[in-house]
Amino acid sequence: MTTMHVEPVGDLIEHDTSGNPCVCGPTERPVKREDGSVGWVVVHNSLDGRELHETDRGDA
Ligand SMILES: [Zn+2]
Repeated sequence: MTTMHVEPVGDLIEHDTSGNPCVCGPTERPVKREDGSVGWVVVHNSLDGRELHETDRGDA
């Protein structure tokens, strides 16, 4: 089984793409390939806030 990893480039942490659980809590999704087989894509989460614009932090 082949697993692809999609990870944020230049993120603050090192993402584990060697098959161990990554600290970012990635999402795994099945993807169907052209030859009909199913592979897995592990989508890693950016920890530098790039995707977290809707924070509720209330800085004030
Ligand atoms: Zn990760």
